[in-house]
Amino acid sequence: MSDKKTCPVCGKPEAEKYTPFCSKRCADVDLSRWLGGVYRIPTDEPPDVGGWPPDGEEDE
Ligand SMILES: [Zn+2]
Repeated sequence: MSDKKTCPVCGKPEAEKYTPFCSKRCADVDLSRWLGGVYRIPTDEPPDVGGWPPDGEEDE
């Protein structure tokens, strides 16, 4: 039985520093997979901030 976790990207033993990945590279790979579906949206239009103060600008 092994209680060592493995990198979900390449299957190597995970590194404590980059858990659950084995390296920053694998972390980046996984991250870009996530961001790939989010940050491809063009930002021509302003974000829809429905009553949410974007920058803590208090105006009573
Ligand atoms: Zn890896």
